[in-house]
Amino acid sequence: MHTKKDTKPNKVNVVTLGCSKNLVDSEVLMQQLKGNGMEVAHEKGEDANIVVVNTCGFIDVAKQESIDTILNFAAAKTEGEIEKLYVTGCLSQRYKDDLEKEIPEVDAYFGTLDLPFLLEELGADYQHELIGERTLLTTPQHYAYLKISEGCNRTCAFCAIPLMRGKHVSKSIEQLVLEAKNLVKNGVKEVILIAQELTYYGLDIYKEKALSKLLYALNEVEGLSWIRLHYAYPYQFPLDVLQAMNDCEKVCNYLDIPLQHISDPVLKNMRRLITEQQTYELVDQIRSQVPDITLRTTMLVGFPKETDADIEALARFIEKTRFDRLGVFQYSHEENTFAGQNYADDIPALIKQQRHDYIMGIQEEISFDINQQKVGQVYPTLFDRKEGEFFVGRTEGDSPEVDNEVLVNAKDNYVRMGDFAPVRILKAESYDLYGEIVLDN
Ligand code: SF4
Repeated sequence: MHTKKDTKPNKVNVVTLGCSKNLVDSEVLMQQLKGNGMEVAHEKGEDANIVVVNTCGFIDVAKQESIDTILNFAAAKTEGEIEKLYVTGCLSQRYKDDLEKEIPEVDAYFGTLDLPFLLEELGADYQHELIGERTLLTTPQHYAYLKISEGCNRTCAFCAIPLMRGKHVSKSIEQLVLEAKNLVKNGVKEVILIAQELTYYGLDIYKEKALSKLLYALNEVEGLSWIRLHYAYPYQFPLDVLQAMNDCEKVCNYLDIPLQHISDPVLKNMRRLITEQQTYELVDQIRSQVPDITLRTTMLVGFPKETDADIEALARFIEKTRFDRLGVFQYSHEENTFAGQNYADDIPALIKQQRHDYIMGIQEEISFDINQQKVGQVYPTLFDRKEGEFFVGRTEGDSPEVDNEVLVNAKDNYVRMGDFAPVRILKAESYDLYGEIVLDN
């Protein structure tokens, strides 16, 4: 399977699995290694002699992908393709002891907060002066994720993240403004604010929810065009964030707020703290305060004890609320979570899949409908890449990787990647918009 090849001494190939928070961790690791004079690559380092796999341990499918990736590189090591193999990230944090026994080819396993120890193992020193500096982005150079905190203090019954990421720790507003300024210096125009739980920001260090304060501060960063919000938590949502969204021209009228479900018995069993009625009221409040907001949410189906009536309640909620963007996860029975310890995984896999498809089917029609209203409109569009015969971009209402894309034919239009251009929408499908660049806008 693997052929012997020349590898470069001290070249590290960092491989990232999982979410955008893991991407930021990999970027921080690569910056430190570069700061120590080491050569680094992200997932393209065929000639690297050292591999670091940054794993995900969230749910079954993600765990399996992480294990398969480790095994793949373990085989490469056994065949002399690479010299050293290290594993870090959530799966390693959660299952270190088991992994050490099951995949001993790995030179060492590290947890999610073990960067200094991983660097030491790689013969590098942790460089404090590099904190807040990220020049080696895993994303296109014009947008970057900005992780505003680590960990989570919530106790959602299905979630293993607090087991892997620990308690909530916010970065200071000053540190985040510095990080954003450094990113802009390196060509970034859009920052996507991420956390395990975005709206908890500041409660630890400022003793108050300070996300809106952070937005006003980031809005002052010159050269930044878009500030996008992901992973908001619905319970006791800080409404001053909506005021900041209205006041700050750079803050996108966009909000990702995973709701997980709507039915009261399920929300209660999930320990989401919020009720069906409060959820309806919150969505109405958000829409009345920011009328043209793009709302993204995530639902979780197949949670223990979920009934057909619960799923119908969810279907009615989605039909009434008409989210602009919606994704659905299927429940994964995770040990050491509240649900893993107290409930049986009583919904068969086939039913989980059917409920997933049912909800996504409703959403696809809604998304198609909503997109038809965009035909003929002109949207400022940030272009990310060229793919085949199209330049591919996003409007203010689209986050990378998860939302709609705007496709403009490269034969009749020209735009540089990383640039904004006004696009008139000519045709709309469920998840893609086709348009032309408006020159005289
Ligand atoms: S808020 Fe999110 S990260 Fe925190 S426990 Fe709940 S689902 Fe997990």
